[in-house]
Amino acid sequence: MARYTGPVCRLCRREGQKLFLKGERCHGPKCALERKSYPPGEHGSGRRGRRRPSDYALQLREKQKLRTIYGLLERQFRRYVDRALTAKGVTGFMLLSLLERRLDSVLRRAGFAASQAQARQIVRHRHIAVNGRVCDIPSRLVREGDVIEVRENSQDLQPVVQSLSRGYEVPGWLQADASSKTITVRRLPEPEDINVDVDEQQVVEFYSR
Ligand code: SF4
Repeated sequence: MARYTGPVCRLCRREGQKLFLKGERCHGPKCALERKSYPPGEHGSGRRGRRRPSDYALQLREKQKLRTIYGLLERQFRRYVDRALTAKGVTGFMLLSLLERRLDSVLRRAGFAASQAQARQIVRHRHIAVNGRVCDIPSRLVREGDVIEVRENSQDLQPVVQSLSRGYEVPGWLQADASSKTITVRRLPEPEDINVDVDEQQVVEFYSR
C-alpha cells in the first residue's frame, strides 16, 4: 500500500503540533518544531497571526492531523471513515478505535516501536506473528484475545529492543510482556484508552459536509 515518503517534520510544522512521527527525536531538542515553530515553506514564518481560519479550514486540519499520525493516504483513511460512519456507536470514537486496532498502531502503543512508520516496517519485514501465524499486513485489525508476538528469529531486533528499553505506558486494552515480546489484546479499546490529540468530531464533520 502506498504511503507518504517525504520529510515528516514539515507535517508537524504545518499543523503547529507535535505528531510524534520520528520516534526518539520527537522527545529531544532536535525536534524541528522546537527549533522552527512556524509553518514550512518560503512564506511560512509570515503566516503567523493571520486571520482566523474558517470552520472548513479547522476541520480540514484536524482530518490531516489524524491521517498523518497513522501514516495513511486519503483513500485508505476514507475507508476507515466510511466504516466508522456505518458502525454502531459514536462515529468519532469508532474511527479512532479502528485506527488504534491496526497492527502497526498496536505495536507502537505497546512500546514495541518508536513510531508508526517503524512499527509498519517491522510488520512489513515479517518480524511479527499474530496467533502463531506470520502477519505482514500493518492494517490488520486486531480482535479481543489476539496474541501478537515478535517471531523467534527476530527477538534481538534492535528497533524493538531499543523501544522496549525506553519504557512506555501501555493502554489498558493491551497487555504487553517485554521479556517474551508478546502483546495480548485483553479487550477492544474504550474511549479512555485512546489518547490522540485530535478533535475527532471535527474530522467526522469534515466528511459529513
Ligand atoms: Fe514532529 Fe517528531 Fe519531527 Fe518534532 S521531531 S517535528 S514531533 S516528527
